[in-house]
Amino acid sequence: MITMKGAAVSAKLKEQVEKGLETLTWVPKLTIIRVGENPDDISYEKGATKKLTSFGLEVESKVFPGDISDEAFKKEFAAINADASVDGILMLRPLPKQINEQDIEKMIDPAKDLDGISPQSLINIKPVTAAVNIAKVFSGDTSGFAPCTAEAVVCMLKMNDIALSGKRVAVVGRSMVVGRPLSMLLLHENATVTICHSRTASLPEVCREADILTACVGKAAMINHTYVKKDAVVIDVGINIDENGKLCGDVDFADLEGTASAATPVPGGVGGVTTAVLAQHLVRAARMKQEKNSNK
Ligand code: NAP
Repeated sequence: MITMKGAAVSAKLKEQVEKGLETLTWVPKLTIIRVGENPDDISYEKGATKKLTSFGLEVESKVFPGDISDEAFKKEFAAINADASVDGILMLRPLPKQINEQDIEKMIDPAKDLDGISPQSLINIKPVTAAVNIAKVFSGDTSGFAPCTAEAVVCMLKMNDIALSGKRVAVVGRSMVVGRPLSMLLLHENATVTICHSRTASLPEVCREADILTACVGKAAMINHTYVKKDAVVIDVGINIDENGKLCGDVDFADLEGTASAATPVPGGVGGVTTAVLAQHLVRAARMKQEKNSNK
């Protein structure tokens, strides 16, 4: 079984970012917005800052107290959103309950929305060409920003020369952060996609139909060889902590030996590619801004 490491894909994305930077007249800046002290958020913030800085990009963090009011947060968010020195925004979610997250999804400038959160609804967006990021993903329009993790999975497959057209792909998980947008991106690549979830009957059998299995569940080591067709490719999106306090994915990686042809490890797989995609989105956002400014 081949171990598909994220580092090799990240290195290729770094080259693309460096080429993009050559065409820019300034160093693009990402602003990470964190509310509260959630350890998962802090860990993601650290990883993203390290990766983007190592790619030659600028990163600043804006941290707000976990009990900030809805009104006060919206005021702060509006100021960051309008700040011309900010090229891209990454808002760590979920936000605390007192903040209306859907309002923020509507507020965020689509040109700075690097993780594709704006807005969740296709309803009332007419024509579809006026739709913004997540709606674009669902309508097959590639001009916006897809959620970074979903795009990282597609990068991982394509950069490892794994064909998608006509292939059967099972996506286990249907969240708006990963499973659903990933399914749409795979569909755009002409894969035949089956979206599975907690109510899917006979899940192992359904997964065993797939040439490529992507696990986006959030359940430590749930996917073992009984879910995997012989020689299938397995992509593990999960980030979990096991009973020994160790970081692990949704896939029991060792158990796939002899069944899967290739699989991604956790850690060392999709996670690092997600932040490399974020870097790529930041450069694209800055390039779009530069083009817009030069057309004024
Ligand atoms: P989520 O919102 O909790 O969604 C989990 C999905 O898995 C749901 O659709 C759920 O189905 C489904 N599910 C749960 N238990 C299942 C079961 N026993 N059988 C089949 N399906 C089941 O989680 P998420 O935000 O999508 O994240 C998923 C995983 O990816 C987590 O481990 C998260 O930490 C990780 N993640 C990684 C990255 C990265 O950069 N690598 C980024 C984001 C998230 P229902 O809809 O029916 O409830």
